[in-house]
Amino acid sequence: MATAGRFREQGLAGLQHNFITGKLEDLIQWSRARSSWPAQFGLACCAIEMMAAGGPHYDLARYGMEVFRASPRQADVMIVAGRVSQKMAPVLRQIYDQMLEPKWVISMGVCASSGGMFNNYAIVQGVDQVVPVDVYAPGCPPGPETLMHAILTMHGQIQSGEIFRRREESGAGAGIHVDQRD
Ligand code: SF4
Repeated sequence: MATAGRFREQGLAGLQHNFITGKLEDLIQWSRARSSWPAQFGLACCAIEMMAAGGPHYDLARYGMEVFRASPRQADVMIVAGRVSQKMAPVLRQIYDQMLEPKWVISMGVCASSGGMFNNYAIVQGVDQVVPVDVYAPGCPPGPETLMHAILTMHGQIQSGEIFRRREESGAGAGIHVDQRD
């Protein structure tokens, strides 16, 4: 309280004898969470909601992730927006493999997460059969608010290290090799 009082009265000069300390690891995880760039990759109707989330009204820029990258080599978040056909699955996997570690996957909508109403031979019955999913956004379609909730959930898990711990315990999920850069 005394510090806050000095800051109110004297501005920055009141803080000149104070220090803010923290772990470097926390700073890295914080900056990593807030500079995640999604791959530009929409599969079906859910992608329209994903595009809406990137518009000025919902302002994804607040979270440092307004830059949807056309190259997977410049992206570290894959938002699987829509149903995944069997023909598209190897392409999706290749794009995932081309993204740099560490990387994360959000499954957007019931079709991506479980096949949804497309319970047939042509559609993958859950994209977690193809890539490891970190966060599921429910709905048909999930609105921008739901997607943003999923994004913030992902940020929280990156920052707390939860995602990395989970992957270590599960062998990286879906047989994926995870580069332990951190
Ligand atoms: Fe389309 Fe709904 Fe499936 Fe999304 S969940 S791809 S909106 S049918």
